[in-house]
Amino acid sequence: MELEIREIGDENLRFFISGVTPAFVNSIRRTILQEVPVMAVDEVEFAENDSVMGDEVIAHRLGQMPLTTPDGYLLPSECDCREGRCSNCSVDLTLEAEGPTVARAGDMDSSDPDVAPVQPDAPVVRLEEGQKVKLTAIVRLGFGEDHANWQPAIASYKYLPVIEIDQDAREDWDECVDACPKNILEVEDGELVVTDREECTLCKACAEACPDAIEVSGDPSKFIFKIESTGCMSPERILKKSIEVLKDKCDQFSEGVERL
Ligand SMILES: [Zn+2]
Repeated sequence: MELEIREIGDENLRFFISGVTPAFVNSIRRTILQEVPVMAVDEVEFAENDSVMGDEVIAHRLGQMPLTTPDGYLLPSECDCREGRCSNCSVDLTLEAEGPTVARAGDMDSSDPDVAPVQPDAPVVRLEEGQKVKLTAIVRLGFGEDHANWQPAIASYKYLPVIEIDQDAREDWDECVDACPKNILEVEDGELVVTDREECTLCKACAEACPDAIEVSGDPSKFIFKIESTGCMSPERILKKSIEVLKDKCDQFSEGVERL
């Protein structure tokens, strides 16, 4: 197996992985989407809401807000408090605002400053003169498989594109260059070249326009894997956590097998 990092940033991670099967990379993708726990608003208690937006609409909006997720919190199901309401397994975000104003995510006070909205400018509710809102949003760890609110990232992969060009097949490449919707084909010194193979979506439009000269396929043993974090944590941490989850499952499985 070979791994090569192609891009690494605060929210995006892109790498090549080769020598593995589609089932293997798909298990990582699915684990990221469904089984890496992150913090999200789980419940909202309203003390006051005179705005034109209903409690449910505001609660739904808060639930979808990505929050920074530090290490150390317990899942409500694993906490001794059994209610998901102590400081080991929950965080309170409180909002108190009076119109005229637009209350934003960043206006909420967190009981743990390490758990905060990723986008503080995101509007929560618009309040007109005399309208008030007072609420407590209860944040807990959860899983993407239970609700998309807890999905830490978008994870995807594709086969590494293989674009074979017969340079002797033609002299005029304009038709082929124009066919590519990603604009990654160019002519250099009379030859057709691919400027950025990773951008190829395997749509095969170029091969359809120039079947005499171009063949496009995906290499089923090499993948481009991409993780786009919601901002809840870094994409490397999401990837590492997904691998921990998979490892734990394998350990449990092998313990079960030992007992046979
Ligand atoms: Zn607790």
